[in-house]
Amino acid sequence: MQEMKNNDESQYQIMIDQLRSANAELSESLRAAEEENRAKSSFLSSMSHDIRTPMNAIMGMTSIALSHIDEKSRVFDCLQKIQTASTHLMNLVNDVLDMSRIASGRMTLSEEAFSLADMVHDIMIIVRPQAAHKHQEFHLEIGQIYEENLIGDPLHLRQIMVNIIGNAVKYTQEDGTIHVSISQHIGQSEFPGQETDNRIWLDLLCEDNGIGMSQEFLKRIFEPFERVNNTTTSKIEGTGLGMAIVKSLLDRMGGEIKVESEEGKGSRFHISIPFAAAPHTEGTQTLPTGQTVLIAESMDSRAQQIADYLKDGGMETVHLKNGMDAVTWLTEAQYENRMPCALLLGQELNDMSVLDVAAHVRDLAGREFPIIMVAEVDWAQIEYRATRAGITAFVPCPLFKSRLFAALSELMDKAQRNNSERLGKHVDYSQYRLLLVEDNEFNREIAIELLSQTGVQIETAENGLRAVEAFEKSPENYYDLIFMDIQMPVMNGYDAARKIRQLPRKDAESIIIVAMTANAFVEDIRLSKEAGMNEHCSKPVDAEHLYEILRKRLSAEE
Ligand code: ADP
Repeated sequence: MQEMKNNDESQYQIMIDQLRSANAELSESLRAAEEENRAKSSFLSSMSHDIRTPMNAIMGMTSIALSHIDEKSRVFDCLQKIQTASTHLMNLVNDVLDMSRIASGRMTLSEEAFSLADMVHDIMIIVRPQAAHKHQEFHLEIGQIYEENLIGDPLHLRQIMVNIIGNAVKYTQEDGTIHVSISQHIGQSEFPGQETDNRIWLDLLCEDNGIGMSQEFLKRIFEPFERVNNTTTSKIEGTGLGMAIVKSLLDRMGGEIKVESEEGKGSRFHISIPFAAAPHTEGTQTLPTGQTVLIAESMDSRAQQIADYLKDGGMETVHLKNGMDAVTWLTEAQYENRMPCALLLGQELNDMSVLDVAAHVRDLAGREFPIIMVAEVDWAQIEYRATRAGITAFVPCPLFKSRLFAALSELMDKAQRNNSERLGKHVDYSQYRLLLVEDNEFNREIAIELLSQTGVQIETAENGLRAVEAFEKSPENYYDLIFMDIQMPVMNGYDAARKIRQLPRKDAESIIIVAMTANAFVEDIRLSKEAGMNEHCSKPVDAEHLYEILRKRLSAEE
């Protein structure tokens, strides 16, 4: 009997427990439904307020315009305000649609291969002018990048980045400073409590010294329609949905966000999103290993980044900080026949402008030599001057390895193609005449043999004095170029060049005089320059070098 009673009691107890837990679940569902309802009502009331404000402006301005239809400037002013308000309205509608798509789970993330370099470039096109408009200092730094080609959702990543960097610009006063850094880390999340894996995490760090936010507001920053409410922010346009969208997108993408801020001091946003690396495609640019590139840039960190990338591509690098040093280095390299495969000119040099160095080098190294500018400048603004100075290609900063490799390999391919075309094709310089000044009969013979392959007309003189006489007697512009030996009896090459330059005739100044000398030390180069010679050709003469000079100085018929 007692046993039955005990059984019943425990049965009751179980039922009571079940009812209690069902009750708790129901209360929880009710609380959640009420919360959702409250959130929806507050969302709707905020939204109707946010829609009403620009709608009021549009309707009000339309009435004003209609009642002043003949006053052009008034109508113009109204239309401008209508345009601003309708753009705002459009943004709001887009944001709300985005929010609802994310919340209802209708938003799908795409999985496609994209280039981080292209994306960063596109984002900069949007945000840089906004910062420039507010006279803000805008720094973008690219840190360690393991994979430029990623798999993920580029459109939504772009939306997140534009929102965060755009806010930094928006909520920072004129003349403020914004630092953006983009990098990657592999494996573990930088945020505590996350597991380690082998994905590539993309890190965006965005710091500003703008108006900042209170600690109280920071707790609500990801809530829809939340905006700091003060006189400064009320003048800044926004929907208060951007951060909510960013947070929801990051949650869907498995990413993380951390915000630190102090009122009046500025804010620091750090986001981190995992991606898979895109498989390496065929045809990724490869560089000719073992070749040297000369880097001219005064800032060590920039030069180091370029050098590291090139070393990854199997190239050697030489770094110089002064423009003049770069020109001298190249002059010597040309003499010693160890020219680098390209010159990379950076943002700035200690002593000369980058464009001046380019012009010097172009003059020295001929038209095929690749001179690449790697800088943080608006290329459209300097393109005309830069190409005139002889810069062949531009690689924008922040620097991505792929862009640097693409520019280098394209230029080097082109130079090589031109070279083989030239070697294969017969170039014709028969419309030009040159004077070959050389005392040694044997050397003269060799030079004639090599030069006559190009069809150029050759006259000779066996010392400096004969050369001056031949030039003096010739009609103006009779010779196009003079190859001048230096050490000769009767009159040496320096004196002859000096005498020719002093002759009272128009072409005395313009005639191209190329020194041919066995000594190619800096001192010789200086002396020949002082004597008015245009350039040097070292002896024993090399066929390629002679042709290179003709190519540089005369334009051939092919
Ligand atoms: P909004 O459309 O108003 O810019 P967001 O959702 O993007 O909306 O941001 C919400 C609010 O967070 C902003 O209104 C602003 O008050 C604050 N906020 C966001 N980013 C910054 C920042 N970098 N500096 C200061 N305040 C910020």
